[in-house]
Amino acid sequence: MTQPPRSTPITSRACHVAVIGLGAAGLVAARELHREGHTVIAFEREKQVGGLWVYTDRVEQDSLSQEPDRDIVHSSIYKSLRTNLPRECMGYSDFPFVIRPRDGESRDPRRYPDHREVMMYLQDFSKEFKIEEMVRFETEVVRVEKVEEKWRVRYRNSRGVSGEENFDAVVVCNGHFTEPRLANIPGIDSWPGKQIHSHNYRIPDSFKDQVVVVIGSQSSGNDISKDIATMAKEVHVSSKAIASNSYVEHTGQKNLRIHPTIYRACEDGSVVFRNGRVVYADVIVHCTGYKYHFPFLETNGNVNVDDNRVGPLYKHIFPPALAPGISFIGLPFMGLQFFLFEMQSKWVASVLSGRVKLPSEDKMMEDAIAFYGKLEALGIPKRYTHFLTDPRGNPMLGTFNPQDAAVISQSDYFNDIAEYCGCSSIESWRERQYNVAIKKLFFGGDSYRDQWDDDQLIEEVYQEFDKLKMIEM
Ligand code: FAD
Repeated sequence: MTQPPRSTPITSRACHVAVIGLGAAGLVAARELHREGHTVIAFEREKQVGGLWVYTDRVEQDSLSQEPDRDIVHSSIYKSLRTNLPRECMGYSDFPFVIRPRDGESRDPRRYPDHREVMMYLQDFSKEFKIEEMVRFETEVVRVEKVEEKWRVRYRNSRGVSGEENFDAVVVCNGHFTEPRLANIPGIDSWPGKQIHSHNYRIPDSFKDQVVVVIGSQSSGNDISKDIATMAKEVHVSSKAIASNSYVEHTGQKNLRIHPTIYRACEDGSVVFRNGRVVYADVIVHCTGYKYHFPFLETNGNVNVDDNRVGPLYKHIFPPALAPGISFIGLPFMGLQFFLFEMQSKWVASVLSGRVKLPSEDKMMEDAIAFYGKLEALGIPKRYTHFLTDPRGNPMLGTFNPQDAAVISQSDYFNDIAEYCGCSSIESWRERQYNVAIKKLFFGGDSYRDQWDDDQLIEEVYQEFDKLKMIEM
């Protein structure tokens, strides 16, 4: 694979940069760009920072969110949500996700805290690094296009006022948990029941006494099926992880069963699973993930989304033909998200200033094509392109034969970026804690968030945090 030249100080150049979106990715992108000496204007559609973590009771009118012109609700967070990783490894490198007391506001001290605690952490980060001074709130970016050597950003604010401004570069941080993907179920169009996507799920109350089919058994599907089972008559989970002839009856919740995938849905309201079992259901809840979506981006075909692969991209960030004017932060999923956003942002900032060089357009394209070829050779579908596989720690990869080290792991990805831009890579404690946490997530049962035996590691982690001298211990 093509390696960029190592970080060498070159003449530093300050760029005028637009950041689109102020979730966990945009916040740290704005900070890194500012630290590198760029001027930053960050556009945020909502009234506040936090993105996905800004919980709202509001849901979209179209419960499957398929109408292109619908009023979009950004967040996909449900009321009972707690993090699926321990807080210590979830935070940014130099701003630990510890309990920071705030006047008059209660905090959630748990290691796997609720969503409000994550939002408060992001607000604290924003305040600490004065990010809000760079933000235009309630301002949606509606178009980004190249005009001569600049990137023209058109925006519209909540008062209906439109405007445009030219930038040297645009960093796209608009998130990818808002446009639902649906499972392809034969017969679903004539199935008479109600359907919703997890994007529009908040609380279980409306499922009282109903028979519910939940499609998907990853993080959200797992949480949501258990949440709904507290109110519903029966919950039947359809899971890709279950062999087609099997059935799990004892799940710890007496009204919750796990089946393989759905064979078909029928006009009489029945749902037939591949194990032959038939359930007459009132509702189907699709916990089937999301699509990358960049409705504002005009790239003349240089960046496309194909079966959820955003490409071609060099190292999940730079489109070879448009780099470094356009870059994407946060496309890889499942992993140490905030840390990943930070590493990617450092690289983008250093490339824009000229401190670090990218390979030529041809070399970046060769690299991207070689990467896609390797995925194909391993039988990995395009939609997993941005899934940073970790052969050493991720049991989700059972089906992908991950022994082949050709597919990069999360830690290798961090190490590579660190080398390219001369920053520190993932800390040993963070890597170890993540590897334990991901196993707990998949195999730790219902109590994985509240039971652990890593006291020694925790002590080490807090010693590291102490060295940062940024927290009240
Ligand atoms: P977002 O948080 O979605 O932010 C994008 C921002 O862009 C939003 O504020 C939006 O308003 C703005 N925006 C979008 N379009 C425009 C536009 N055109 N103009 C202006 N602004 C725009 N990760 C973890 O590390 N731990 C967890 O426990 C965890 N749990 C999760 C649970 C769920 C249900 C989901 C869906 C994801 C979870 N994640 C978790 C992953 C999570 O996505 C990341 O942690 C992270 O918050 C994503 O940040 P982001 O900045 O990429 O996107």
